[in-house]
Amino acid sequence: MKATFPLLVLAALGLPTLGRADAPAAAAVTVVRAARLLDVASGELRRDQAVLVRGERIAEVGPAAEIAAHAPAGAISIDLGDVTLLPGLIDVHTHVAMGDLSKHRDRDRLRLDAIDAAVRANVYARRTLEAGITSVRDLGTADYVDVALAAAIDEGVVVGPRMQPASLGVGATGGHFDPTSGLSAHLAIVNEASGIADGVDKIRELIRTEVKHGAQVIKMAATAGVLSEEEAVGAPQYSQEEMNAIVEEAHRWGRKVAAHAHGAEGIRMATRAGVASIEHGTFIDDEGLKLMKERGTYLVPQVFSPEVLHQFEQAGMPDVVLKKARAAFAAQLDGFKRALKSGVKIAFGTDAGVYPHGENPRQLTRMVNAGMAPLEALRLATVNAADLLGWSDRVGALKPGLYADLIAVPGNPLDDMTVVEHVRFVMKGGAVVRRDAP
Ligand SMILES: [Zn+2]
Repeated sequence: MKATFPLLVLAALGLPTLGRADAPAAAAVTVVRAARLLDVASGELRRDQAVLVRGERIAEVGPAAEIAAHAPAGAISIDLGDVTLLPGLIDVHTHVAMGDLSKHRDRDRLRLDAIDAAVRANVYARRTLEAGITSVRDLGTADYVDVALAAAIDEGVVVGPRMQPASLGVGATGGHFDPTSGLSAHLAIVNEASGIADGVDKIRELIRTEVKHGAQVIKMAATAGVLSEEEAVGAPQYSQEEMNAIVEEAHRWGRKVAAHAHGAEGIRMATRAGVASIEHGTFIDDEGLKLMKERGTYLVPQVFSPEVLHQFEQAGMPDVVLKKARAAFAAQLDGFKRALKSGVKIAFGTDAGVYPHGENPRQLTRMVNAGMAPLEALRLATVNAADLLGWSDRVGALKPGLYADLIAVPGNPLDDMTVVEHVRFVMKGGAVVRRDAP
């Protein structure tokens, strides 16, 4: 077990820490030094490097001796020793405000609501950040809990990753996002904020409402899903006309669209509509891969470990969900390998919330085990992810001008990707979030 330095200790050491009172002053200068630094863009692993951080941004990156000479007197020095510095990782598919799977799914559906989610969300946000995930695109949460969480994090009230929230999502009646699907038709549940709309006019109204309340990206349920109770896992749930309207309306407001899509037909329809990314893409076919490549559409696949299916089985899921989960999870690796071969653009998204919070980096190891080059895997979670978020000018690399979001891992991830599962140091926006004893 690794001990994380409590923030009080960091403060006592004079290190900047997260939290409103302790946020780094604009003039604060910190030098972070390590035995190695990986430039994920070029693939170059450089020895004895340092990052000069001014306030919340990176000012300079280079050989440690050179950076030390440039640092002003009084700069805080953090020597991390035998570790590799990387840019903070970005997960483009999370549900930070959604709890880990409980053992009583149906009871929870009836007894827990947005207030419960909000009370718990900060725990998952911190867990995510401490695992080295410094930015997320958060794809769908009822009742705008994600928007509130993102705002609280930005204000420094809650410790968590930078968030690009999708708010409610946009889905069809009885489809993947319908919270009352599977429940009695006689149950009257008051849920105005659940992200359901049918037909072009209602869809436009819902997107405008979501943008009004803080959606920075629009999430569409293009096809059926695993956790919902439709029979199919991949059937389209919107017409082509409706998908086109979703993308057109989102673009009008300057928002990209992320499409939840498992089945081959729905993947093609969403891609034709012009979405920025296909989420899951579990049963993608060659035609879909070809179309996505032509259009420059990102694929955001998951590669769960087998334990995730076991957690589903333990969670009291209805048989219809378990049946779909078995089929979908079994197809993940094959879909990922075919995507890899096709040369389609891929970004790293774990579906944390459905998958355990804080275990996000483990899917990078799974991707490498499935045949992806380690450097390529790290790019999915840095440069590619930043590009998909439209945040390349903020995060995703260690270079001057970007936020000082950096992590350190033991060993060399190019030789052994499992080191990303053991993050030792996390800095977000120039503030130390985690520093394990060496
Ligand atoms: Zn998801």
